[in-house]
Amino acid sequence: MDQIIQHLISSEHLLIVSHAHMDGDAVGSLLAAGLAMAMVSERVTICCETPVPAVYRFLPSSDCIVRTVNDADAFDTVMVLDCGDLDRVGNLVPHISRIPVLINIDHHVTNTGFGDYQLVDTTASATAEIVYRLIKKMGIPIDKAIATSIYTGILTDTGSFRFSNTNREAFAICEEMVELGVNPYDVAQHVYGTTSLGRIKLLLLALDSIEISENGSMSMMALTRVMLEETRTTPDDVDGLINYARSIKNVKVAALIQQAESETPPDGLADHYHVSLRSNGSVDVAQVAAEFGGGGHPNASGFSIQSTLSDLKARLFELAGTL
Ligand code: 5GP
Ligand code: MN
Repeated sequence: MDQIIQHLISSEHLLIVSHAHMDGDAVGSLLAAGLAMAMVSERVTICCETPVPAVYRFLPSSDCIVRTVNDADAFDTVMVLDCGDLDRVGNLVPHISRIPVLINIDHHVTNTGFGDYQLVDTTASATAEIVYRLIKKMGIPIDKAIATSIYTGILTDTGSFRFSNTNREAFAICEEMVELGVNPYDVAQHVYGTTSLGRIKLLLLALDSIEISENGSMSMMALTRVMLEETRTTPDDVDGLINYARSIKNVKVAALIQQAESETPPDGLADHYHVSLRSNGSVDVAQVAAEFGGGGHPNASGFSIQSTLSDLKARLFELAGTL
């Protein structure tokens, strides 16, 4: 960590990025790191390829997150947050690859160890927890804005302190953030308290799409581009829907298949899909996703694949037979 801190302190123009289609931990750790590093580094730019999901736009300075970097050569250091592999940053990869020093800060078990320096702790509840430790070690004061970002990252990545990554530090850090001024009710209202009508209609379609494997160990949801268009929703609205499929009695693994945003090919030809996997704790879905070229955590993982929908479902159900 000391070498990382040296780089951050001496950086003249630091870029901080997190993965495309940000979740609460990606936005929270990005903003916490951005606001904190702005107090020590000369110049800091925070960036994510895709827009901040509506529910996280209440976070202070979320409007400062830019969508692209025009001049990668202007940066001497880049910090990549909450990414198991570098491809998670999407079309920022070629820009980032030109920056001399890359610092990888993450908590995924499948982290590939990319970059020049790694601060990877798979026992951390969230990347926001690791960012908190870094900020503390650097002696940077945590103001209410930073505290709100850290709190939101930990709250959302632990599923409100319900998932298996919920640890003592998650509670301890969040308690400290509350002492620093975070209002848990306010954050919860923003993150969980408001839902668009479109998302409710999408939930209906997602629930209607549920199929269960013959042995009952796997549940599957499938969402198409047309469903998102019809309900006027975006991929951000899909976040969390898989938990309904996961909570079905006796289900060990839930899969949510989501058609990617590109053009639909003619009937019968392969299309791009993102598959989210969730486990009840008895199956390591990080391993399953890794076999498909993706990754994640033991109980929450994902991968992207080119396939027809019927072939993809068949492959997943084949897997269900072994569970
Ligand atoms: P989600 O299902 O919410 O997209 O992702 C669940 C977890 O799996 C997250 O921690 C995410 O980082 C990881 N994940 C999802 N998709 C991919 C992927 O394509 N590659 C890798 N390496 N990790 C992924
Ligand atoms: Mn995370």
